[in-house]
Amino acid sequence: MGATLIDGKAISLEMRQEMTLQVAKMQVTPHLAAVLVGDDPASAVYVRNKEKSFAAAGMRSTVHRLPGETTHDQLVELVQQLNTDDDVDGILVQSPVPKHITERAILEVVDPIKDVDCFHPENVGRLVAGEPRFAPCTPTGVQQLLIRSGVETDGAEAVVVGRSDIVGKPMVNLLIQKAAGANATITICHTGTRDLAFHTSRADILIVAAGRAEVITGDMIKPGATVIDVGMNRVDNPARKFGHRLVGDVHFESAVEVAGKITPVPGGVGPMTITMLLANTLKAARLRRSDGSEGR
Ligand code: NAP
Repeated sequence: MGATLIDGKAISLEMRQEMTLQVAKMQVTPHLAAVLVGDDPASAVYVRNKEKSFAAAGMRSTVHRLPGETTHDQLVELVQQLNTDDDVDGILVQSPVPKHITERAILEVVDPIKDVDCFHPENVGRLVAGEPRFAPCTPTGVQQLLIRSGVETDGAEAVVVGRSDIVGKPMVNLLIQKAAGANATITICHTGTRDLAFHTSRADILIVAAGRAEVITGDMIKPGATVIDVGMNRVDNPARKFGHRLVGDVHFESAVEVAGKITPVPGGVGPMTITMLLANTLKAARLRRSDGSEGR
């Protein structure tokens, strides 16, 4: 094995310990209200993990579990109630919602000051303008991995594979800022990119969020590069207990021989996403419960 592993679990634990200490000193307990509509098993697991993480950090989380038949208007009503509930600092509507509900419209109902997922257009706009209130959890988790593992971003060639609203685009908007842990020169690739390997192989920092199992192989990576694999894909493996194994968007076995630093899957980016949700909820509590001038 050539590359050094970037240990997302350890970095996540370190950040959670820092936050637990901060929360213990606060007058109020930061409180996340999560809304789960329907019975998607993966979403139920995510929400349970969030509940456990909040409890472990000394923060509150309340889960509103709604049946799959919930109407769009009923969901809007609940979100509006949470907006006006002074006891609630952050609101998260677990994706995906059932198909008869327009997710985008629901996300726009969330009060931007409580939008800890950073999906509201106002918060997206603030991020693009370089004045972020919150940063989306997964990309900001990636940025923390880079900072905390000593990767130089200033002036680096960074290539992001994927342009989703959840990962790729906000990742670019974070790394492009003239700020610490950013200031990179960025290329963004997608399915319209003509020669993916041409771009990936000149990246000092390669961030892959394509949602395609092992699409980036070692021969597409610059020797010594830092490789951050956001992907989480289940591939069949009858030898495993549940009949599948989890792989990233990077072919780990070949990439690890070429890269300088690399995140594993699992145990890389994954643990950071909930950690950054904790961080955003803590920030929301601070913004709302100060005089408000910092947040609004
Ligand atoms: P997504 O919405 O499906 O977007 C995938 C992006 O990758 C699209 O922009 C797509 O291009 C691009 N793409 C797909 N195949 C490509 C290829 N062969 N070459 C170049 N670009 C390609 O996915 P997402 O929500 O961003 O998630 C990406 C991955 O990260 C998934 O595996 C997901 O499970 C994982 N994820 C992990 C976490 C975590 O906490 N660890 C959080 C979120 C997501 P087009 O725009 O042209 O279609």
